[in-house]
Amino acid sequence: MDFGWTTSDDAYRAELVSFLTQELPNNWWDSFAYDGPSGPELMNNAGSFNRKLAQKDLIVRHWPQAYGGQDAGAWKQIIVSEEMWSRGEPRSSLYLGANWAGPAIMKFGTEAQKHRFLRPIADGEVLWCQGFSEPEAGTDLANMKTRAEPDGDGYVINGSKVWTSYAARADTMFLLARVGATGKGGVSCFILPVDAAGITVRPIPAIHSPHDFNEVFFTDVRVPADARLGEEGQGWDIVTTILHYERIGAARYEFSRRTLDHIVTHLKARGLFDDPAIRGECSKALAEVEAARLLTYVVIDGRAKNLPPSADTYVARYSMIQADHAVANLSSTYLPDLLTHDGDGMLRAHFTAAITAGIAAGAAEVQLNMISGRYLGLPHGA
Ligand SMILES: Cc1cc2nc3c(=O)[nH]c(=O)nc-3n(C[C@H](O)[C@H](O)[C@H](O)COP(=O)(O)OP(=O)(O)OC[C@H]3O[C@@H](n4cnc5c(N)ncnc54)[C@H](O)[C@@H]3O)c2cc1C
Repeated sequence: MDFGWTTSDDAYRAELVSFLTQELPNNWWDSFAYDGPSGPELMNNAGSFNRKLAQKDLIVRHWPQAYGGQDAGAWKQIIVSEEMWSRGEPRSSLYLGANWAGPAIMKFGTEAQKHRFLRPIADGEVLWCQGFSEPEAGTDLANMKTRAEPDGDGYVINGSKVWTSYAARADTMFLLARVGATGKGGVSCFILPVDAAGITVRPIPAIHSPHDFNEVFFTDVRVPADARLGEEGQGWDIVTTILHYERIGAARYEFSRRTLDHIVTHLKARGLFDDPAIRGECSKALAEVEAARLLTYVVIDGRAKNLPPSADTYVARYSMIQADHAVANLSSTYLPDLLTHDGDGMLRAHFTAAITAGIAAGAAEVQLNMISGRYLGLPHGA
């Protein structure tokens, strides 16, 4: 494995950084990015930002040419992720479409679905949300109860989802609903507009953001048959494939790395960085961050070589969680006054994102279960 960036990778990053430097508003961290990528100001800004990004062909260059990309590959995608996520993800939930919903449609969709859904992602015109979790089905996703009953030439959906990020302002939902059987075998995927008749979105203010979470209720929501992605009952296969993309889709380590640099600047300004114990803690946090980066690059290397997803994804994800927590512990221990509303927008945005690390995209303990079984080959406990 070669860790060096190619000349083309360096040029791509430079192009992206130049665009971001020019396009992000001056008060980016203290206003727009302060509440995370689901904050109303950031989501509003994402509309025009994403269209400009599309004009420069900077959204899906990693996609195959057949779908509007340039076959630029997995390394270009991680460069985008590093530059975007470390700036508070100015695309908002467009990243869901570009990172995994789009690839899922490429792999499992009909030609008509590819035509309908992929172009708007490439053009930066659609914000996605992900309706998986339910009140009794988070980690135990196979227990989900939302149903899609076949009815004439389509389906009627009833049930509810919870913790649905972005739903209050997103355009399109990637939904899991049950057709027929219980357990994994009945899970099916649907793609539908969030403003479809019968959908109600109710925000849930949370400690990490007053705007991120939502409950979504489905009451006799009628969708056509071609809203279903893949076959009836194929949803579990689709989801287990795409969750590999989701788990390391956001380059959280790069946000932690830049936040750590920012923390060190504050510590120096306050004379605290002269304390050897504090320097030691900063060094340990840096080691966690760089371990997460390298473990993520192992996964990207496999993807670039078209290898099937492997348990490396869980190791990388768990390492990112550790890195987030190490950096957030520094800001909460030594710079707590900067985590308030009048404090430092970047530190606050990182800290609140770190609160959710280890829960979102699958609990930390579940990643450890996967590592013990699929990576280390240990037997299930009694
Ligand atoms: C910021 C954020 C954004 C989110 N966005 C979305 C979204 O957009 N769409 C969506 O569908 N969902 C979303 N979620 C929900 C997320 O996927 C779930 O919270 C997560 O899967 C855990 O499910 P749960 O909350 O039901 O917790 P539970 O499944 O009840 O788990 C609670 C805790 O129990 C322990 N636990 C549970 N099962 C096991 C096990 N098998 N082994 C060991 N320990 C276990 C773990 O400590 C776990 O943290 C989001 C969550 C967060 C925090």
